[in-house]
Amino acid sequence: MSDRIETESRKLLGRLRRALAEDSAGQERLDRIVELIATSMQTEVCSIYLFRDVDTLELCATEGLQAESVHKTRMRLGEGLVGRVARTRRVVNAADAPSAPGFRYMPETGEERYSSFCGVPIQRLGDALGVLVVQSKDSRAFTTDEVYALEVVAMVLAEMTELGAFVGEGAALSARHQQPVLFRGSIAQEGASAGKVYLHEPRVVVTNPISDDPDLELERLRGAVETLRVSVDELLSGDRAMTPDQVEIFEAYRMFANSRSWMRRMEADVSNGLSAEAAVEKEQSLARSRLGQAEDAYMRDRLHDLDDLSNRLLRILTGQGSNTGAEMPENPILIAKNIGPGELLEYGKALRGIVLEEGSVGSHATIVARAWAIPLVINAKGITTEALNGDTILVDGEQGVVHLRPDDSVSTAFGDKLAMQTRAQERYASLRELPAVGTCGTQVALHMNAGLMADLPSLPSSGAEGVGLFRTELQFLIRSQMPKRSELSALYSRVIAAAHGKRVAFRTLDIGSDKVLPYMKANDEPNPAMGWRAIRVGLDKPGILRMQLQALIRAADGGPLAVMFPFITLHSEFRAAKAELDKVLARETKLGNPLPSNLEVGAMLETPSLAYAPDEFFREVDFISVGGNDLKQFFYAADRENELVRRRYDTLNGSFLSFLKTVVDRCDAVGTPVSFCGEDAGRPLEALVLAAIGFRSLSMRPASVGPVKHLLRQVDLVAAGKAVSEALESGEQDIREMINAWLVENHQSPRAVT
Ligand code: PEP
Ligand code: MG
Repeated sequence: MSDRIETESRKLLGRLRRALAEDSAGQERLDRIVELIATSMQTEVCSIYLFRDVDTLELCATEGLQAESVHKTRMRLGEGLVGRVARTRRVVNAADAPSAPGFRYMPETGEERYSSFCGVPIQRLGDALGVLVVQSKDSRAFTTDEVYALEVVAMVLAEMTELGAFVGEGAALSARHQQPVLFRGSIAQEGASAGKVYLHEPRVVVTNPISDDPDLELERLRGAVETLRVSVDELLSGDRAMTPDQVEIFEAYRMFANSRSWMRRMEADVSNGLSAEAAVEKEQSLARSRLGQAEDAYMRDRLHDLDDLSNRLLRILTGQGSNTGAEMPENPILIAKNIGPGELLEYGKALRGIVLEEGSVGSHATIVARAWAIPLVINAKGITTEALNGDTILVDGEQGVVHLRPDDSVSTAFGDKLAMQTRAQERYASLRELPAVGTCGTQVALHMNAGLMADLPSLPSSGAEGVGLFRTELQFLIRSQMPKRSELSALYSRVIAAAHGKRVAFRTLDIGSDKVLPYMKANDEPNPAMGWRAIRVGLDKPGILRMQLQALIRAADGGPLAVMFPFITLHSEFRAAKAELDKVLARETKLGNPLPSNLEVGAMLETPSLAYAPDEFFREVDFISVGGNDLKQFFYAADRENELVRRRYDTLNGSFLSFLKTVVDRCDAVGTPVSFCGEDAGRPLEALVLAAIGFRSLSMRPASVGPVKHLLRQVDLVAAGKAVSEALESGEQDIREMINAWLVENHQSPRAVT
């Protein structure tokens, strides 16, 4: 970069700073800025286009084009050269603009007189805000240094737009973060709630994009990068156990933190007059826009790493940590890119809702949110950049929709929805002590799923008869090291005590797949859901399985105990697991410890193969629990965590239901109790159909017990059984509509079903 440009660029930023410091309105500031840029860069035209809505750009200020076209000239995203810059977030530098691909003639601007065109995106952290354009009569491509200077200016404009420096009349100059925004995400936990935004990681606010002392800024930047390097080195050399993935991430951090080119670019930006923070953000913005375009997964991961590293650097520079001291508002709705179960547990049940930019339905955080019945919407793209602490927010977990800063009509409609939800809850509460018995007298036992001590208080309030599935791995997942047997045993006895004599079916560790223990060496498996997981790990590493079984027996303290093994695929696996249990029982006898007064040993049926195990298996096992979540993914060969295929195959499909019916029949034939504990058990219509095909025990999240009970109590389950059989015999694959229609015709409105 030539010294002349460096000084020119710095001079221009100095002038910009003075212009921005003047006490003037947004429009005046913009007019002054375009004039300054045109003069400094010796171009006939300088224009600023800003977004007036998500896909329309508006000319907001110009030096050189017709003044009357300001706020009149508009283009769609991708339209003309300006639209192309905004869409691609890339510079367009054309010596002969009219012949450049995509050029669109705008007669009102008088721009046909200008030959050369250079447009740079005005963007902040991947968020496109507008386009800065310079044009000249003579046909020449702008030099690299000139383009660079424009990018630096665009960076400052982006920061100032974010800070509200150009607020004025009209949509394009409206203040950011004040408009209502609707996000469409995916449903992870149903329920609706209204509250105020509480950001998990508040954004760093850069209030000084331009520096007045580049030398001092360089010193600040170098100091911060050094602190960053040391902290990354410490992370890598520390005694913290890391999975290979984590090591890879931190190695990438180290690589970036030591990257000369990254540092050189930021140093150049600072020498040109940007503050250290703005220089970091400029690099971060660049990485984010490349992230949006990168097709290669490895590349995307590395750009994510760079993004995270930049955030760390910004926090070092500004002193703004994740704990900014912002008070948790009343009715907090947590907004985060993603969150781990441990962090979520720290917030506790005070949260009214959660919205994540990423997340997945099968993640542990989702399991925690579901257990607590906190409405959760995932895949809400862009919400962390749009939401501010304290903003009003409505989370509609039924639709997977989030209204940020809603207008009055939306708030009113949402209020009605909340009132309906409250009325429904009151109705369910009145059923708490009543059994789930159909009008025909058929009774279905409703149990709840749990995994944390904090879930147990829901047992009496939900109206469940017991805990049909206790996911023991959650306790392992939220710890930083392997729990000791004594700790586990103490925990399980507290669970048993809190259940007040109600049955708890403890499932032994189901780790692997997406549940990776932070302190266990992780395996790099091509397909972990079908890999080394659950009982497969238990049988290969029997020490852990035995330790857990021992803790359970000791916790039972001579009382009854129900244990089930996850992901049993073959009869022989069940026998092998039971043999481990027998060894533990023999040892406990030897030690003189009391054995359970009644020990039920069950298997989870989560793979189709087990449905075809020999009769002997069905006789040997004390009970079967159908893990519908896994079973469905293997039945349909559709990854339960993959949003692209997850919803493609319905539970209420003739093939799947016939298969489930086979399982029920095989259990009934030998008198082995069978229960269904996948998420579908908690959906009223699905629960009804499961009951109709013969399941007499269902286990679900606590909040579902009321709605399921409410429906089952209104229905003649014998007649429902006939209706389902007829639907299956009709040859129709999708029987959802048929059952819904039968229900409406014979019982009630479909509204109460959903
Ligand atoms: C299931 O697969 O249905 C189940 C209950 O287990 P998890 O969801 O924990 O895999
Ligand atoms: Mg499972």
